[in-house]
Amino acid sequence: MPKAKLLLGKVVRAEVYSELQPRITNLKRSGITPGLAVIQVGNDPASQVYVNSKTHRFSKMGLLTETITLPSNTDENNLILTIRKLNKNTKFYGILVQLPLPQHLDSNKILFEIDPEKDVDGFHPVNLGKLVTGHPKFIPCTPKGVLRMLKYYKINLSGKHVVVVGRSNIVGRPLSILTSLKKKYVNATVTICHSGTPNISKFTRQADVLIAAIGVPELIDKSYIKEDVIIIDVGINRVEDDSEKGYKLVGDVNFESVNEIASAITPVPGGVGPMTIAMLVENTIEAAEAAHTNV
Ligand code: NAD
Repeated sequence: MPKAKLLLGKVVRAEVYSELQPRITNLKRSGITPGLAVIQVGNDPASQVYVNSKTHRFSKMGLLTETITLPSNTDENNLILTIRKLNKNTKFYGILVQLPLPQHLDSNKILFEIDPEKDVDGFHPVNLGKLVTGHPKFIPCTPKGVLRMLKYYKINLSGKHVVVVGRSNIVGRPLSILTSLKKKYVNATVTICHSGTPNISKFTRQADVLIAAIGVPELIDKSYIKEDVIIIDVGINRVEDDSEKGYKLVGDVNFESVNEIASAITPVPGGVGPMTIAMLVENTIEAAEAAHTNV
């Protein structure tokens, strides 16, 4: 019998946008239209979908957005010069470089070039350092979205055992740090598992809250969890099927298998996914407000 409560990003996202609207109106009243510059290198179809969704949402909210598309063979210098120009452009309060970059470009070196005050993805080492020391400025959007969902659904992590599977700089590692901070709603005991962890189920079975950010379709099934666990499935994986599109989206968790054991779960699609762009908008508004503290 399915029993898990569904934690829906769409519902939380609606609240985020309605809270942001008066802040946008307030900025616009002072002649400020927060702008986001997106740099895309090459024309990877998946990246194109993400970039379109971001710019569509910004336009829909009456915000400024511009995408700078560079050819896939762009060299490092050209990309760095583009970022430096945008750093000086006062129209843009947020700058993001769509990842992944083509292999010949060193993303760490490139991300380092973004002005930390405009780093709305939160990937610059200065912003990651602030996060680690417990004084985050820009929190990476997907981890921030997860925390926002937990708060919305009144899931307090304090005293709980959180197991994060995945250690990427974009999702797993920031979440492992954020959930262990000595702050309201978090303050959890955290275990982080990754591709170097033998027998991850030994750890995941101890989780009160399990966060999967792995990128392996439906890896986590009922043999990985204990009764009443809360599952946050960050994974978004395309698997081929017979549908017209030729594929469907699944998470890192086998929803059908865990549904009768977990107490709550974020479905895929419709769970964490919708939160990422909402948090990007929020970070861009925060950047604009920080640049105009008198507004
Ligand atoms: P990544 O490939 O950078 O990192 C995956 C992590 O999982 C690595 O740290 C690796 O050590 C670990 N891992 C891989 N295989 C494993 C295994 N068999 N056992 C244990 N650990 C294993 O991926 P990412 O960027 O962190 O993304 C993870 C997933 O989240 C992907 O499905 C991605 O599409 C999705 N994602 C969703 C959003 C969103 O908006 N909801 C945003 C970013 C990423």
